[in-house]
Amino acid sequence: MAAPVRHLLGVVLAAAAAAGPVDSAKSAEPPKVVVSILPLHGLAAAVMEGVGRPYLLVAPGSSPHTFQLKPSEARKLQDADIVVWVGEALETFLEKPLRTLPKRATVVEVAKLPGVETLPPREGGIWSEHGHDHGQKHGGHGDKHGGIDGHLWLDPMNGQAIVRALGEILAQRDPGNAERYRANAASEAARIGELHAELERRLQPVASRPFVVFHDAYQYFERRYRLAAAGSITVSPERQPSAKRLAALRRTIRDRGAVCVFAEPQFKAPVVASVVEGTGARTGVLDPVGAPPIEPGPEAYRTLLDRLARDLVGCLAGPTG
Ligand SMILES: [Zn+2]
Repeated sequence: MAAPVRHLLGVVLAAAAAAGPVDSAKSAEPPKVVVSILPLHGLAAAVMEGVGRPYLLVAPGSSPHTFQLKPSEARKLQDADIVVWVGEALETFLEKPLRTLPKRATVVEVAKLPGVETLPPREGGIWSEHGHDHGQKHGGHGDKHGGIDGHLWLDPMNGQAIVRALGEILAQRDPGNAERYRANAASEAARIGELHAELERRLQPVASRPFVVFHDAYQYFERRYRLAAAGSITVSPERQPSAKRLAALRRTIRDRGAVCVFAEPQFKAPVVASVVEGTGARTGVLDPVGAPPIEPGPEAYRTLLDRLARDLVGCLAGPTG
């Protein structure tokens, strides 16, 4: 009697051992992914849909330029398997915390992903007095790191490259869900491609109309859609523009015949109203990074681009002169 039981038990245990690793790979917790800003978070959420949810650091309505980590967010970082950020050109608040992460964490610097094209910060004319110094306030490291313009997500071609790269990184980190990540990444890239074609059609009629933005965040979008941006109000969004700069801006608005001057939901900008005074330009609002009512989630990246186009057209398409 004893022998058959032992035999049977042996078979069951062997079967369990064979099934074990497969089962645990499938039911394992998905990687803990922490993402700096809403558009990148949206891309990560699209890749992880049906598996898990990434954690967003800079809440909708906040700006990565003025953001400070709370202790609870610092703990999320320490606990992360994967951290996604643009790089030192944008999220200066992450520089130090990323140096103290445990070794198991994979840090994804989006500016260096394959297929992501970066542009140098704009200089000269009304774009800047001393170069656009996002992230340079701690000692000019914009130069040290090749001085890129960090707002690279606003080119949908970069969005596609980012989503594909994230799909591959997650597939390698979590092989049990690899097929899902790759399929999600491919369909999000396709949806971004469709949106891009639609935005070309929508923006083309207003592409030649000059406008002024609040801070120099839109270079990637302007290049992709050949828009006629004439300058920005601030050199750095956290600093008030000088009286001299405001006077120069008013001249630019008149000389270039700027149709609209755009504020941003992340910054209080009473200066926008005074800049347009007596120029004939209208005021509007553009959101480069995601403020309410945009909600974090797998749609957020495309919602952001869609609203950006809508807000540009909404102001620029009106009567001129
Ligand atoms: Zn910015």
